Amino acid sequence: MPELPEVETVCLALSKILINSRVTNIEIFRKDLRWNIKDNLEIDLKQKFLKKPYRRGKYILIPTSNEHILLFHLGMSGTIKIISKKYYLSKHDHVKIDIETKENKFFSIIYNDPRRFGYIDFFSVSKIKNHFLLKKLGVEPLDSDFTINYLQKKIYNKSKCVKNFLMDQSIIAGIGNIYASEILYRANIHPLRTVDKLKKEHLKSIIDSTKFILKKSINVGGTSIRNHLQPDGKLGYFSQKLQVYGKNKHICNKCTNVITLINISSRSTFFCSNCQR
Ligand SMILES: [Zn+2]
Repeated sequence: MPELPEVETVCLALSKILINSRVTNIEIFRKDLRWNIKDNLEIDLKQKFLKKPYRRGKYILIPTSNEHILLFHLGMSGTIKIISKKYYLSKHDHVKIDIETKENKFFSIIYNDPRRFGYIDFFSVSKIKNHFLLKKLGVEPLDSDFTINYLQKKIYNKSKCVKNFLMDQSIIAGIGNIYASEILYRANIHPLRTVDKLKKEHLKSIIDSTKFILKKSINVGGTSIRNHLQPDGKLGYFSQKLQVYGKNKHICNKCTNVITLINISSRSTFFCSNCQR
């Protein structure tokens, strides 16, 4: 599932062409994604101008000239392709949005999603605070309000394990299964540790590791495990930099111990039982 760095990678690629572009045409081949795409999308988005896209958690938000937001969620297997030449549809292409840039160049934005757990929404800017997918999202881990103080409030009296805590979107937005393992490995914290036992120094280490890992992954285009490709079709190269995820029985990079695989809430979790306490 695309996590924060993969979504950020897509968002950065869209930013290069979408700003002040005009939507010339929209074609929807399948409406039944995780939820049905609204009927007004084709009519209300056509001929509108797009503004700078931004990311919130795992969502891409594109403001439009009619004070609306076009939202993409990639779900489990969604990808966005940016095409500049004639395009022949492939299997699982569900939506095609044609745009003309301010330099009069033409692109198609294709949303492809084999499992259809993703979603595309279109709603008035005034509804953003109460949007069902956005209203409960926690702090952005790359923002300055992701602090020790914030985490101290969230862990108070909670017996949840730290890995599930990191993946809870209402606490921190954007971290999923791959990066949770990587962050805890870098922070030397055992994934099953309960959060109310974490001391200030652990919280600092979690914050530093989170920012380090996410930024490093964004810099190389995210992690291409399963479906993620950058919108130009290139792989994301963070998969080659993963330290523990998918490394069951490999030797730890920090000691001579072997990496262990366990299931936490039926998600694969990788860690070093010697380095992570
Ligand atoms: Zn180790």
